[in-house]
Amino acid sequence: MSKPPARKRRPRAAPKRRHRLSSGELKTNLVVLAVIIGASLAVLFTRFSLNPPTEPVTRPVTVDAPVAVAPDPAPATRPAARPAARPGPAPTHTTPSVVSTPSVAPTRPAKPTPPPARSPIPTVPSSPPERPRPGKSRGTLIFVFDDAGHNLAQLEPFLRLPFPCTIAVLPGLQYSKDAARAARAAGKEVILHQPMQAINKTMDPGPGAIREGMTPAAIRDQIQKNLAELGPVSGINNHEGSLITADRVAMGVVLDVARESGMYFLDSRTNAKTVAPLVARERGFTIWERAVFLDNIQDRDSIVEAVYTGMKIAERKGAAVMIGHIWSNELAAILTDMYPELASKGFSLSTIARVATDKDLAE
Ligand SMILES: [Zn+2]
Repeated sequence: MSKPPARKRRPRAAPKRRHRLSSGELKTNLVVLAVIIGASLAVLFTRFSLNPPTEPVTRPVTVDAPVAVAPDPAPATRPAARPAARPGPAPTHTTPSVVSTPSVAPTRPAKPTPPPARSPIPTVPSSPPERPRPGKSRGTLIFVFDDAGHNLAQLEPFLRLPFPCTIAVLPGLQYSKDAARAARAAGKEVILHQPMQAINKTMDPGPGAIREGMTPAAIRDQIQKNLAELGPVSGINNHEGSLITADRVAMGVVLDVARESGMYFLDSRTNAKTVAPLVARERGFTIWERAVFLDNIQDRDSIVEAVYTGMKIAERKGAAVMIGHIWSNELAAILTDMYPELASKGFSLSTIARVATDKDLAE
């Protein structure tokens, strides 16, 4: 028996090489696919949830992102229209104000209180204290500087004061006209500093004075002459005058001239027995009175103390007239130093004519 020839074994065709993914590769691919699908869905979702479909699709979806994550910008630049993005405290309508900031340092201005960090209300940046907010004043401070007219050098620092104030000019002196003109040019209020005789008759009140024994007509003429010399003024106050301000007839003439010319009268109160208030009442004419002399003692501490006294009076009465003298060497510098503090504590600085005008407008 012969063995059937062994069938030639056809060589097995090399199996078509079918690539079978190993389970590791499969996993990797699935993960990649899942990531791609997930990312696509995420992009689509983000785009349609952040951007209304009406908006151009080219708008980058990240456009709003800085608003949510940006650190708080400066209050003045914070847009008011985005309060919803900030779950901050409930909006308040009282913006932080510098006027009530307490300060204990006598000469340093109080720093404005920074606004609450997350307040959605735009706040006014700290502004120079020239104009305290209307209606919030703790009182009006009225500074009057007497005895201008002797020279211009002493007047000059007062003309540079950064707030409204009044220069009281003596008549008949070498620089009377120039001082009045310079003060007006500097935007200061100008009044006639009318010399009047004092009880101590050895004191010379100077040119253009009202002296004992003058007739009412002579008093009137003298005042008119002084007014003509200085040019337009807003009022009259007395230089010295402890004798004349106690004289009912003389003061009657002074107040009549003031009232007829539409000017105010400021009683410097060089004599506690002044009859000016009585004479004014008889005429139904309102006059002003000096509350404080700033420079009876001319050192810094005393002047600062006098201003504080004036502030207390202004707080109590609404206004305080403080009189100093242009020959006080340091007065202008001290007031310049104190001014930011006065404003930051909520006081307004004004003049009698301005206050009177405001009052008239309010009535
Ligand atoms: Zn004087």
